[in-house]
Amino acid sequence: MGRIAFIGAGPGAADLITLRGARLLAQADVVLYDALTDPALRELAPRARWIHVGKRGFCDSTAQAMINALLVRHAREADLVVRLKGGDPSVFGRLEEELEAAAAAGLATEVVPGVTAALAAAAGTQRPLTRRGAGRSVSLTTAMTRAGDLHASRCADTEVFYMAGRQLGALSRRLRQAGWPDDTPASVVSRAGWPDELHSDHTVATLAQASVLHAGRPAVVIVGCGARPLTAVTRRLCAVHGTDPADKVVAPGQDTSPGPRP
Ligand code: SAH
Repeated sequence: MGRIAFIGAGPGAADLITLRGARLLAQADVVLYDALTDPALRELAPRARWIHVGKRGFCDSTAQAMINALLVRHAREADLVVRLKGGDPSVFGRLEEELEAAAAAGLATEVVPGVTAALAAAAGTQRPLTRRGAGRSVSLTTAMTRAGDLHASRCADTEVFYMAGRQLGALSRRLRQAGWPDDTPASVVSRAGWPDELHSDHTVATLAQASVLHAGRPAVVIVGCGARPLTAVTRRLCAVHGTDPADKVVAPGQDTSPGPRP
């Protein structure tokens, strides 16, 4: 009887996995991975059998039941099965179902954390999610309810929305209904942590404008305090463009400020 390690792969480039995750991965006999993980991670476990269990093309519940069954079956035959998940396994990763399936089968489990998309987005844009004095709370929220409705709230100084990239117009409406003022900063970051990461700046009222730029890419929407550019950067942006820094697109390596970053 083997054991299962749930490992967070991080949001992008393979070097964002933790050392603990990489070391465990190197011992894996079987790796079950989903769509968002970097193929370069395969080099960390070249002898393991890699099985893709991305959910695309299946109905959601069928796909999850199949993954649970595969996990249990392989763990009964192998010493170590790794369930590699994008970002952090505990954040919108269906971890509870898989842990419960493993527990029901009497299998030992371990969870190794990873860098979740919100943290990679904050790092990539150099915009801290908390700010001294103004940003004391952060929420990680999925905009989609189980019934497929879109939901938005206003319960933290910074709210990071996952899985809303296809419905930015609707998210904008819901945010306004939830009481966010129209001019609240809203930043969209897609493929955070990858070399082709993109981010664009909007307000709650103009969020829908981000749809085309980020189409087809995994994205998080950061609303509120943590979406604000740092003051020094803001000043430089205004000096360069002579405008408000809202509704600007910044690609990696494209430094819009004339001097070094603070
Ligand atoms: N467990 C993952 C989240 C899985 S849910 C984590 O901790 O990051 C999938 C959602 O995560 C996507 O719809 C998107 O909103 C977000 N996401 C995943 N990878 C991303 C990335 N590299 N950049 C921006 N958002 C990402």
